[in-house]
Amino acid sequence: MKNYTPRRIIFSLLVLIVAISTWNVARAYIIYATWATESATYRYHSSLPTAWQSPTNFGGQVWTNVLTSSWTFVYNTSSGNEISYGGIDGVGNLVGQTTPSFAGDGHLNGFDIKFDSAESWYTGSGTPGSNQIDARSVSAHEFGHGLGLDHPQSQYCPTPSSNPARATMCQGAVPGTTFRRTLATDDKNGVSAAYPSIVAP
Ligand SMILES: [Zn+2]
Repeated sequence: MKNYTPRRIIFSLLVLIVAISTWNVARAYIIYATWATESATYRYHSSLPTAWQSPTNFGGQVWTNVLTSSWTFVYNTSSGNEISYGGIDGVGNLVGQTTPSFAGDGHLNGFDIKFDSAESWYTGSGTPGSNQIDARSVSAHEFGHGLGLDHPQSQYCPTPSSNPARATMCQGAVPGTTFRRTLATDDKNGVSAAYPSIVAP
């Protein structure tokens, strides 16, 4: 990926769009940008409660684990990419937010993730209460933004939002559910298209 120029990225996107319209299969992922590297670091901001460290790591690890992609997220205390916890917009609406930054050539070169402290969160690895939002699910979604994936086209995200067939990158956190912890085939296809594995899995 290091030698990709902006022109080649634009070309790749055009190929993807043509593929969607021609094949008419559930190829929903959208890559808004890629890193020049195949790895990014992150660290906990001082605002992040200790209970959030495990859900944070989980969100990065699900992408690292995709065998058909070379992508990895790596924790590093000196990383400039911060995972924080604080107010965004009160209860409901946004539950997490990812802010990417870009190099002059258009590649991603940073990201910050913030989880909304106003929400009722479940930070464990079991089952959240019916009114609790699963931190691991939202973390997985936000880290997907961090590596360059956008929300898939809505017509490829089955409704309602509680439908467990929805990809991790589909919009809409649903309290009491954990299905977004597990990447859908479309999520895996997205990260694998952006950062193909060099060695066959
Ligand atoms: Zn999102």
